[in-house]
Amino acid sequence: MRLFECGSLVPGCPWHTRADNDAEVVRRVVEHMRTAHGETMIRENMIENIKARIVTANETA
Ligand SMILES: [Zn+2]
Repeated sequence: MRLFECGSLVPGCPWHTRADNDAEVVRRVVEHMRTAHGETMIRENMIENIKARIVTANETA
């Protein structure tokens, strides 16, 4: 599993998501950015920022 914690990109945000692959994580994070942080313009560098912060999650956690 791959894990993204929004707090690593937006300090103080407790939201996080887990998925089987990076593409799905990025898709969910972009949706969260739009709905929770009002980021209507998702720029390419934001996608890179998201990808750089995705980590491998403990399967049993
Ligand atoms: Zn967030």
